Amino acid sequence: MSTMTDAAMETENDFSNRPKPRPGVLDIAPYVPGKSKATGGKKLYKLSSNETPLGASKKAQDAIARLAGTLEFYPDGAATDLREAIGDVYGLNPDRIICGAGSDEILSLIAYAYLGPGDEAIYSRHGFLVYEIAIRAAGATPVVAPEKDLTTDVDAILAKVTDKTKMVFIANPNNPTGTYLPFSEVRRLHENLPPNVILVLDAAYSEYVRRNDYESGMELAATTENVIMTRTFSKIYGLANLRLGWGFGPAHVIDALNRIRGPFNVSGLAIAAGVEAVRDRAFVEKAVDHNEQWLPWVTEELEKLGLTVTPSVGNFILIHFPEVDGKTATDADAFLSSRGCVLRLVGNYGLPNALRMSIGSEEANKAVVANLAEFLKQ
Ligand SMILES: *Cc1c(COP(=O)(O)O)cnc(C)c1O
Repeated sequence: MSTMTDAAMETENDFSNRPKPRPGVLDIAPYVPGKSKATGGKKLYKLSSNETPLGASKKAQDAIARLAGTLEFYPDGAATDLREAIGDVYGLNPDRIICGAGSDEILSLIAYAYLGPGDEAIYSRHGFLVYEIAIRAAGATPVVAPEKDLTTDVDAILAKVTDKTKMVFIANPNNPTGTYLPFSEVRRLHENLPPNVILVLDAAYSEYVRRNDYESGMELAATTENVIMTRTFSKIYGLANLRLGWGFGPAHVIDALNRIRGPFNVSGLAIAAGVEAVRDRAFVEKAVDHNEQWLPWVTEELEKLGLTVTPSVGNFILIHFPEVDGKTATDADAFLSSRGCVLRLVGNYGLPNALRMSIGSEEANKAVVANLAEFLKQ
């Protein structure tokens, strides 16, 4: 028995009357996350999402366990304890910090607060895909600047600036290329941008970088009116599952973002774990040491196999398959997956001949090298 009226039935079949998303929304190519299953192999080595092989700080895990009996209570919507802990560790004013459900949320909030139809926002050719999603979701127009040697090119970005430009997104270091901009270049970019343009410095991998000419952008965000830096607990801190990130910027920008965010956008579990994680510097150091040992090792071993690897300062590398002997990145991906090694195809980043590999445990790294050696011999 139908409870629908004739009029309701008619509208149901008349698609022109359906609700429609704002212009731009259906132009978004949905984000494709890294695979979490292999097609074969005895053991799974998930190296597809730049997750850490070291797990999370035991102190952060304990903090979550302590809260298991208090799940009925709303969290502190201002995430005060966490902003204070971050401020304490990094020497920042907590009033100028905003926390979010991953730095992805912070990136979206920045776009929603400052972009609209008719506005343009620039990112680089192989830049993080979340920027394009956030820009389009806000109804604005994405503008892509070419790169040089798979590296962000400041002059190319500046050449794309028009009077419609409202925002520039830079991941430094960038994902999926692993390359970075020396801070003098970031400064030069900032100096040449109009003062009404927001420069977003996404420093998701900054803890891993060991280069004298690198800075995450904290000082620029502290001393200017149009720079915001974003950070995440998903990578070196090993809390990707919790969804926790933060941004640091001028007071007027943080104020705008706070007005549009959900009132309880960060869970109490995330706040409590974040406080412990950010204070556990020994854990972070261990993760940096692990990366310092295995990033060069994997890079060199793959180069010995004749593969080209883009020099990376993050916890992942980009491996190129130039299609010699008809061997493609897609073939390599399928072969590795059949042996339990899950890497990331990056065709949607404009890199159809490459695979991105997160630096994993000793066992995982050795498995990839051994399997790629076998793949290339075939
Ligand atoms: C992983 C990553 C992030 C972090 O995203 P979360 O939402 O914090 O998990 C941000 N930017 C880049 C470039 C990344 O690779």
